Amino acid sequence: MVLRRILLPLFLTSFLTCLAVAAPPPPKSVHLYVIDCGVLDIPDTTPYGLKKEELKEYRMSVPCFLIAHPKGTLMWDTAAVPDGNFKPGASTATMRYATSTKPLAGRLADIGYVPGDITYLALSHFHWDHVGNGNLFAGSTWLVTKAERDIMFSNPPSPRTEPQNFSALKNSKTVYLNTDEYDVFGDRTVIIKAAPGHSPGHQVLFLKLQKTGPVLLSGDLYHYPDERRLNKIPATEFNADQTVASRKAIEAYLKTTGAQLWIQHDLIANAKLKKSPEYYE
Ligand SMILES: [Zn+2]
Repeated sequence: MVLRRILLPLFLTSFLTCLAVAAPPPPKSVHLYVIDCGVLDIPDTTPYGLKKEELKEYRMSVPCFLIAHPKGTLMWDTAAVPDGNFKPGASTATMRYATSTKPLAGRLADIGYVPGDITYLALSHFHWDHVGNGNLFAGSTWLVTKAERDIMFSNPPSPRTEPQNFSALKNSKTVYLNTDEYDVFGDRTVIIKAAPGHSPGHQVLFLKLQKTGPVLLSGDLYHYPDERRLNKIPATEFNADQTVASRKAIEAYLKTTGAQLWIQHDLIANAKLKKSPEYYE
């Protein structure tokens, strides 16, 4: 009886703990979750070489992506608005000219993950609208080029970012990417490709999905579809010549692989994508 009094609560506690912390089982094939991380109300589109009235839509989407692979998970970009900006009871939160309707951790919880479950973190680049919740993933292994990491922790910091939102990454386990391609899980289904220019270590993400086919997530290689159509190079690139070369290389890669290009900030195209908890496979 005494033993039961001790063992039963012990059993129940460990059972409930398991329920609370267990991440979803790894999928059999790659799953891609498109997570709604808000909208940018772009105050001035002229740096993109396009006037507001020339654009069908001047606002930009801010998606985050979770890739679930049989061997682990990868978070690609982490929103503009940090979860900490959500005040209790408020339905929206902001950061500069970004607005979001739900914290990223809440979106992940909807599909059974906590940030601590995520194996790898990769950011397309260091600008403020991609690093809002960098700190949440300080326990993940960070996949980054040295050039990008250096500008992220430069002193004084770049005005194009919000260093407090990713400061915890400084001590994260880090893998420096120094090749054109980095095969995240070793089976060529999830590949980070170097595409510098927009920032020193800007990168894009290639995914080979079993049913959907190949997809390439753009980072900020382009912001608007019109920018791609008219081949406009934004005035604010870190290195415009590199951007020209990266666009050429990635366009060739799209042709070779037959991958669809998903321009992350393309609000109209993004609105048509299935959103988490649904996923692409
Ligand atoms: Zn951006």
